Amino acid sequence: MQSWSRTRKVGVGLLEGQCGFIKASGERCRGTSTGQRGLCWMHDPANAEQRRRVASRGGRGKANREVVTLKEEIKSVIADVKAGDLDRNDAGVIIQGYRALKDFIALERQVRETDELAAEIEELKREYGAA
Ligand SMILES: [Zn+2]
Repeated sequence: MQSWSRTRKVGVGLLEGQCGFIKASGERCRGTSTGQRGLCWMHDPANAEQRRRVASRGGRGKANREVVTLKEEIKSVIADVKAGDLDRNDAGVIIQGYRALKDFIALERQVRETDELAAEIEELKREYGAA
């Protein structure tokens, strides 16, 4: 905490009420400071846990919608086969395609979770002056 406040002093005082966080690009954050630290909600380490929860909830929401869509489409393929509107062989190929899509959704979810974690770690390192 001590080293953090020393590094962050550089940007403080330029503009009252503006976040004092300096990005990796050297540019100052345009956010409005909310806490006593003079940082915006995004950069206040006190909100890290909450930010992480919000981010992962957003990611899961998108993936869940994809899964729901996939399920609905597979159900309609099954219904078409039952009704005789779709050839069994065609249906088999389509289902294989859906299976591949399902694998990609799972892979994307893993990658996104890893990326979020990595970004969070990088942000924390910058905030505490370790990077
Ligand atoms: Zn900020």
